[in-house]
Amino acid sequence: MNFTVVGYWHGYPEAGEATSGYLLEANGYRVLIDCGSGVISNLARYISVNDVDAVVLSHHHHDHAADAQVLHYHRILRHYNEGGERPLTIYTHDEDEAFANQLSAPPFVERGTYTSEAPLQLGPFQFTFTKSDHPVPTYAMRVEHTDGTLFYTADTGYMAELAEAGKDADLFVAECSLYAGQDGSHIGHINSEEAAKLAEQANAKQLLLTHLPHFGNHEDLQTEASKVFSGTVDVAVSGWTFSFTKS
Ligand SMILES: [Zn+2]
Ligand SMILES: [Zn+2]
Repeated sequence: MNFTVVGYWHGYPEAGEATSGYLLEANGYRVLIDCGSGVISNLARYISVNDVDAVVLSHHHHDHAADAQVLHYHRILRHYNEGGERPLTIYTHDEDEAFANQLSAPPFVERGTYTSEAPLQLGPFQFTFTKSDHPVPTYAMRVEHTDGTLFYTADTGYMAELAEAGKDADLFVAECSLYAGQDGSHIGHINSEEAAKLAEQANAKQLLLTHLPHFGNHEDLQTEASKVFSGTVDVAVSGWTFSFTKS
């Protein structure tokens, strides 16, 4: 199982880059976790956009979902220009039907629904969802595969339940919108120390900080998190990859 950072910015993308989007690949199956602004353009650096089998959206803020409907246009134009478009399903929660209905464009794009009540099997991946602390309905994701376990906090304020949901993850991907000491609880975001605390409590092997701020020095985020988390800490950049291997 391979994980690639397609985009990692909070809110809006810097030049040539993207907001939240992460590619997960295994056994020839490809899932895009979140699909924010600039993700489709940047995805083409790694795979053919036609090769995406499914998209799973953590929530509907534009920095996580703006390019989801752009994928419609890709599949439609592919159909009329080249043919051979791959079936695509976009999965989201069912707490905002107006938005979710816009994700469906049969026969090119199907809309799928997930809940925190039951696991979702997508190809070789099993997803389970935990509601996070954010101004709109948002879900953290645990993804299990025979190669290992990924956990993604999505956007969230600090909540200890996420450490439980991410227990023993090989890679713990945490949003990190703020620097140590900055309080994001009123806007549903965590800082570097809180991200590291969650990963430490989860007994995760490795921490990736993402959803990064447009101010300050990102190296400081790594320094701050390393004081709290005992494993390896990385800070997202475009194209950052992680290979899960059976231990
Ligand atoms: Zn958000
Ligand atoms: Zn966000």
